Amino acid sequence: MNLFEKAASMIQNSKYTVVLTGAGISTESGIPDFRSPGTGLWEKIDPMKALSTEVLYNDPQQFYRVGFELILSIKDAEPNKAHYMLTEMESAGIINLIITQNIDNLHIKAGSKRVFEVHGNTRTCTCIKCERQYLINQVKDMVKNNSIPPKCSCGGIIRPDVVLFGDMLPECFDKGVREVKLADLLIVIGSSLTVGPVNYLAGICKKLMILNIGDTPFDYRADIIIREKASAALENIMECLKSKLR
Ligand code: NAD
Repeated sequence: MNLFEKAASMIQNSKYTVVLTGAGISTESGIPDFRSPGTGLWEKIDPMKALSTEVLYNDPQQFYRVGFELILSIKDAEPNKAHYMLTEMESAGIINLIITQNIDNLHIKAGSKRVFEVHGNTRTCTCIKCERQYLINQVKDMVKNNSIPPKCSCGGIIRPDVVLFGDMLPECFDKGVREVKLADLLIVIGSSLTVGPVNYLAGICKKLMILNIGDTPFDYRADIIIREKASAALENIMECLKSKLR
């Protein structure tokens, strides 16, 4: 049995499967991840100086000129084969939930239904005072017109619905923890598993499959690791699953 066949068997034997995705699933959509050598965003930008609540409130010019620009650069990407494969797997009842660390909206754009965006999204922004929601393009226009920080009609600051350094994680993360505890299998795709507290999920799951090009600190407890690009790995696994059903 090759690795893809082994992965397909594990998925077939799991009654409830949760997928956890990270920036690596979206590199094939042209969005750089944080840590890949040479291309990772981390090498170009210090996230603490651009994407933290401290910068948002103390230096809004820096936040909206650098951090918000980074957020805008992600929002219009298109899903790739890996996102669509996961949508197909969900429709076929092969996977039950996607928990994503990504803020690029690509699982939703690809048509996946049960998606927990635990680091937020780049579709909307919210007023921190009255909680009115705005589309990100409305806020983009305010920033373009030098309204920094952008303000709501109530006078409150409008911020992106992305989890910044210094923010709490949304409620869906706690729901995700419960789902992973119940699940038979967690499939991690394109994550270095170095960002907490999300990487904690890889420590509490019953069975762990990792589809990732690089190493992760949780490799030691993985039941199977496939070091392939996400789209190729999923395509091969899906092919094996289909031939099992034929
Ligand atoms: P990371 O950058 O720490 O790790 C990405 C991992 O994916 C690396 O281990 C890399 O080897 C692997 N990888 C790269 N291309 C791949 C491919 N085609 N197939 C399989 N594996 C591939 O990313 P992370 O663990 O998600 O943590 C970074 C944090 O940054 C997350 O919290 C996320 O919110 C944020 N982020 C999001 C985006 C996005 O929304 N697309 C992009 C960059 C960063």
